[in-house]
Amino acid sequence: MDSILVGISSCLLGNLVRYDGAHKYHSYIERTLGQYFQFRAFCPEVEAGLGVPRPAVQLRDIGSHIRVVGVKDHSLDVTEALRETAEKQSPWLDGLCGYILKKDSPSCGMERVKVYKNDIPARSGVGVFADYLQQRFPTLPIEEEGRLGDPGLRENFIQRVFVRHRWRQMCQSPLTAHGLMRFHSRHKLIAMSHEQNRARELGRLIAEVRADNLDEIAQRYITELMACLKIVATRGNHVNVLQHIQGYLKRTIDSDDKQELVDTIESYRQGNVPLIVPLTLLRHHFRKQPDAFVDESFYMTPHPAELSLLNEI
Ligand code: SF4
Repeated sequence: MDSILVGISSCLLGNLVRYDGAHKYHSYIERTLGQYFQFRAFCPEVEAGLGVPRPAVQLRDIGSHIRVVGVKDHSLDVTEALRETAEKQSPWLDGLCGYILKKDSPSCGMERVKVYKNDIPARSGVGVFADYLQQRFPTLPIEEEGRLGDPGLRENFIQRVFVRHRWRQMCQSPLTAHGLMRFHSRHKLIAMSHEQNRARELGRLIAEVRADNLDEIAQRYITELMACLKIVATRGNHVNVLQHIQGYLKRTIDSDDKQELVDTIESYRQGNVPLIVPLTLLRHHFRKQPDAFVDESFYMTPHPAELSLLNEI
């Protein structure tokens, strides 16, 4: 597999780029995700020429405009420098499959960054670089390091990175209607586990594809797919997908095996076992009785098993 390029706030990799010359090393990101992702570290404040060490900055609401100004010296305004720096990064940002941002930063924070108005903080801001990233690359999977501690959000982000990577791999060759339909077929069950109505819409969109609208449909498809996958998959949707997959075994397993599957899916539905348990049982049956659609579906192996992302209850 080609390397999966993921942008990251530089301080999270242990680089000494913070305003005080320190870092915010995150071992899970570097040691675990680093085995699968190739990181491109970037510090917008250093890139903007603010130096290390540098005066700490914060978001301030000044006359209804959000500015990035010095914590001690409000006349130090680095808003434009940060915006201009962000805009110059498009060429390499365009090649990414994901981005991990440092939370709470007036440059990198993705959400709930403190905005001061008359010295009263409100958690309503977005860092200047993070804002640019989200506006300019709406289909790029973006997450904060703090939120990666939540198993559901972590799995959601990593899955989206892998999906975007597979999309980018497909787009390295000339796009064909067959290729697009196959991509959808392999991701359909994943989409269903996130949001069933959106998954159905994706199916309808793919049914419209013709030689003369291929590029337009492909663009709409990946935009809609990534929006669908941003919705965190629910236990109920997973149960529907597992039952859907089970339907492909109807004629090939006996009643005891069928009952075992029903019981295992029910156990998952009740929160007694993690998703990996019914999935493993299904994989076992499909190894013995292969089915092209299920075997090819990335729902069965969405990301490397070593990441243990499906093992949480
Ligand atoms: S600007 Fe971003 S990358 Fe640089 S130190 Fe602050 S949070 Fe880290």
